[in-house]
Amino acid sequence: MNAGSGRMNVPMPPVDGGCRSVPVLKQRGQREVFCGLTGIIWLHRKMQDAFFLVVGSRTCAHLLQSAAGVMIFAEPRFGTAILEETDLAGLADAHVELDREVARLLARRPDIRQLFLVGSCPSEVIKIDLSRAAERLSQVHAPHVRVLNYSGSGIETTFTEGEDACLASMVPVLPETDARELLVVGALPDVVEDQMLSLLADMGVGPVRCLPARRIDSETAVGTNTQFILAQPFLGDTHAALERRGAHHIAAPFPFGDEGTTAWLQAIATEFGVSAETFEAVTAAPRARARKAIAQAAEHLGGKSVFFFPDSQLEIPLARFLTRECGMTAVEVGSPYIHDAIHGPDLDLLPAGPQISEGQDVELQLDRVRAARPDLTVCGLGLANPLEAEGLATKWAIELVFTPVHFYEQAGDLAGLFSRPLRRKSMLHLEAAE
Ligand code: SF4
Repeated sequence: MNAGSGRMNVPMPPVDGGCRSVPVLKQRGQREVFCGLTGIIWLHRKMQDAFFLVVGSRTCAHLLQSAAGVMIFAEPRFGTAILEETDLAGLADAHVELDREVARLLARRPDIRQLFLVGSCPSEVIKIDLSRAAERLSQVHAPHVRVLNYSGSGIETTFTEGEDACLASMVPVLPETDARELLVVGALPDVVEDQMLSLLADMGVGPVRCLPARRIDSETAVGTNTQFILAQPFLGDTHAALERRGAHHIAAPFPFGDEGTTAWLQAIATEFGVSAETFEAVTAAPRARARKAIAQAAEHLGGKSVFFFPDSQLEIPLARFLTRECGMTAVEVGSPYIHDAIHGPDLDLLPAGPQISEGQDVELQLDRVRAARPDLTVCGLGLANPLEAEGLATKWAIELVFTPVHFYEQAGDLAGLFSRPLRRKSMLHLEAAE
């Protein structure tokens, strides 16, 4: 809902001043989230000439296989090099073994142009210097294959931080440019990315590049004239790496719902001098469609309360969407990390009232959710079942990352993801009452 202002398309902060400067509850304790290896599931679909080689244990291999479902395609773009403890009789042997595995893989798969060595938790793996291995292998296999490394370890990363670590590892090796280009950062499903590119093209904004690119050959260069905008709110390290390259961050609310998408596009339009008339002409029809779809899907959301456990870092922009566009009330909005430059524009718009929390002490947070008994709790898989058993309706946070939810055409689906568990719960109650 655009609160309507003299300046077109700039959402007005709520009269209570928003949540940017409210005190944040910071807790550190036991956390309940997947590790950063999970990101490989969506990254390998996006980057069509990449391969993700997890250097890990059987646990890592099982996680990947179950998260990806049964692997039905013949040539998957990820795999696990399993290190047994005996491999580490000498670390030099582990390096030799890794080199041999990589050489075998690349000989068999000439379609691979970029290879990511992904670190994990087991202590045997931590002892291997994967950045040295990546440098060495890059030299051996250059120029056909670029080898990079990052950590997806559960000790260091939550599930969306895997993508952040992956993209941040790419930034230093992107070539230098002076060109004024827009760089959209964050993996989006191809169909959603195409919708976004078409809106920007219709506004006359260009050239537009994406990180990650679908193929290494279409990758952008970076420099002090690069204007970048994030499409995902969990890219803190990538944001920092791009700023180190001199690129300029366009701060904006995230493109969820009508208001978020419009504000996100407007921030780009302002930076690239798009006229108000052009902006209106390009966005009017998809905005109207988005509003209609949200109104239908949000029928069951109005007046309901929502509680976010920290999981994906999507929590703050989603709370903004649910409160301002779907009529919900937020009780607590937890995020693993809050980054002012990234989450500030959404916090500005989020009506005051919810407890904003960063990090987690899961037992204390469970006490709070039980006391609040919200209509809907957004949380990880591990917490959802016990909370459902206690009579709370839950939404799995991970689904929000796997489902296309960005921009106008997905706005109704996004609202639908939240209304479905509430509808299900009310139907169960009806049946129980009959
Ligand atoms: S938490 Fe660690 S050991 Fe477990 S799957 Fe993730 S990286 Fe592998």
